[in-house]
Amino acid sequence: MHSGGSARGKYLRNETYEAFIKMSAAAEKEGVKLTIISATRNFDSQKAIWEDKWEGRRMVEGINLTTISDPKERARLILLYSSMPSTSRHHWGTDMDLNSLDNDYFGSGEGLKIYSWLTAHGAEYGFCQPYTSKVNGRTGYEEEKWHWSYLPLSGVFLEQYKNEVTYNDIIGFAGSEAAKPMTVIKKYVEGVACNK
Ligand SMILES: [Zn+2]
Repeated sequence: MHSGGSARGKYLRNETYEAFIKMSAAAEKEGVKLTIISATRNFDSQKAIWEDKWEGRRMVEGINLTTISDPKERARLILLYSSMPSTSRHHWGTDMDLNSLDNDYFGSGEGLKIYSWLTAHGAEYGFCQPYTSKVNGRTGYEEEKWHWSYLPLSGVFLEQYKNEVTYNDIIGFAGSEAAKPMTVIKKYVEGVACNK
């Protein structure tokens, strides 16, 4: 993964990747191995994930969503685990998923060691966990202990998003009509623990 930041089909902005390399080298010295399992996903790949669920090709919570007529409820269920296309931080080249997509993994053993290291040292390299526990009233996605964001860039992009993106821009996929009633910008894009 170098210029353009790609390896095994994963992409990040150079600045994000360089910061990650520094962080993972420091972690490795303390016996913690950080592995990127998902990085940038473009609109089309997010659209494919979303529409598979919206159109019932992939079950959500054991439910075929085409059996639910209320678009808001359909969207709410998908949004438990997946972003609506054009609202994902994975579009930005600043965000990545590390090691496992399972919060339980980070609760004991090797996973706990990784998570403890990230929460103690991630910020020294510019990284922040946007989707923390919701007990203090954060809106949006459930906690994701694997998702880390390079804040020097993503903090700026979030501000730009708030200033420039409207519901008129969230179009071009099945179920986009649910964006506004679900207030996805307010609840999900802005519902993060890292704000700069
Ligand atoms: Zn993620």
